Amino acid sequence: MALPRLVLLGKQGAGKGTQAARLGEYYGVLHLSTGEIFRAQAAQGTAFGLEAKRYMDEGELVPDEIVIGVIEEALAPGGPLEDGFVLDGFPRTLHQAQELDRVLDGRQLDLAINLDVPRGIVLDRLAGRRVCENCQRVYHVNMPPEVDWTCDTCGGRVVQRDDDTEEAIDRRLQLYEEQTVPIIDYYREHGMLAQVNGVGEGDDVFKRLVKVVDARRCR
Ligand code: ADP
Ligand code: ZN
Repeated sequence: MALPRLVLLGKQGAGKGTQAARLGEYYGVLHLSTGEIFRAQAAQGTAFGLEAKRYMDEGELVPDEIVIGVIEEALAPGGPLEDGFVLDGFPRTLHQAQELDRVLDGRQLDLAINLDVPRGIVLDRLAGRRVCENCQRVYHVNMPPEVDWTCDTCGGRVVQRDDDTEEAIDRRLQLYEEQTVPIIDYYREHGMLAQVNGVGEGDDVFKRLVKVVDARRCR
């Protein structure tokens, strides 16, 4: 069966990052998080990363020229994401969704999945979120690593993201409503949308995701 081409949509804190990584592993494709790329570049101190970080720390969107360049490079024919992928955090605006179609150049997306979690729950997840600097594993203040904020998986430092402040969280959720929610309609109109309930244990959410993806692939 062909490799899946998937987009994960959902509010900040809906669990897209974790689930995108699991889906990628399960289906044997790479997952790509634009936010992770920017954070890695910023940590390395590249000009591009530091530029992106100025926007990220305020909760603003990184300008399209930068984001679309990254996607164009990643999805280019001959690259590792040519035949299948899971995108997390892109597209985030209607314009980016249209640009994705252009970059794919006839390659069809299989599904855009809206991982739905109510605002009250994501607010709690984001305010308490702590992330491994090294492998990006996500923890919560109520469920910390076993040893003194050191990652259980890789031993990296577990810290709060610079944009998980109250102001930046508010702004990011506001931009989500204004800029990203319209994409849900865009994919619905194109017959590509699936809605998945993102509340509950990670394993249960993952099973729901696999179910909609497999249903789509077995049409
Ligand atoms: P979150 O979804 O929790 O905001 P991400 O890691 O997906 O976390 O993104 C972090 C930040 O990176 C965003 O707030 C934004 O500044 C920037 N970013 C990521 N993806 C995009 C995108 N597609 N368009 C514009 N900015 C983006
Ligand atoms: Zn780690």
